[in-house]
Amino acid sequence: MRRPFIAGNWKMNSTRADGIALVQGIASNLPADCSVEVAVCPPSIYLDAIVSAAGDSPIGVGAQNIYFEASGAFTGEVSAAMLKDVGCQYVILGHSERRHIFGESSSLINKKVHAALAGGLIPIVCVGELLEERESNKTADVVAEQFYGSLAGVSAEQMETIVLAYEPVWAIGTGKVATPEQAEAVHADLRKVIATRYNSAVADKVRIQYGGSVKPDNAAELLSQPNIDGALVGGASMKADSFLGIIAGAK
Ligand code: 13P
Repeated sequence: MRRPFIAGNWKMNSTRADGIALVQGIASNLPADCSVEVAVCPPSIYLDAIVSAAGDSPIGVGAQNIYFEASGAFTGEVSAAMLKDVGCQYVILGHSERRHIFGESSSLINKKVHAALAGGLIPIVCVGELLEERESNKTADVVAEQFYGSLAGVSAEQMETIVLAYEPVWAIGTGKVATPEQAEAVHADLRKVIATRYNSAVADKVRIQYGGSVKPDNAAELLSQPNIDGALVGGASMKADSFLGIIAGAK
């Protein structure tokens, strides 16, 4: 049984005070018997403050990026060890905004995945196709290629701990959510790719989140699909009510 996992990707949003209030608002309204794993991923400058604000609540904290080197002359970058040092458990890697705005290749993301694993962080590795790739029926190939490239050299034991996020680029921040059938089809394909690369036991364990315009009113139907194990939420993770509404849909 895969435990549902809902993570909020705050992207480059919030202030220190708003972020603290948001995480406290989520923590104080989470049901006591919450069976869903919950995390927030604030901008790195606020990680320390958000880890403190999350306190001993069940809310985990993740970063949105790392650099793969352990330390040294890499101006502007943050290492896995630094994230671990401030109390992070997760790191989002290969987000489409990193791939498309910052030109990150799957081979760079692969180095970051290995650095995150070596540093004791759980990578949330994103894959997803552009609209023109979907329209030319390339979705399965693009997603498989991103999977193989980003996860090269990852052992079966490591793979079981990694979280994947399928985020169709055309659905991110657009309000155009993939239908549950569209999302489920890609998640099922991805699970087959994992089974081919590893085996079906590993494929059964890996959690695959869906991301792209997830809202409280579409979450339950998406999350009820057999191969959708959670959500990576952008805009709707910035308000406690809507994030809690999505968490409620994961039951
Ligand atoms: P939205 O939920 O704002 O579409 O963003 C999705 C996303 O990119 C999460 O990583």
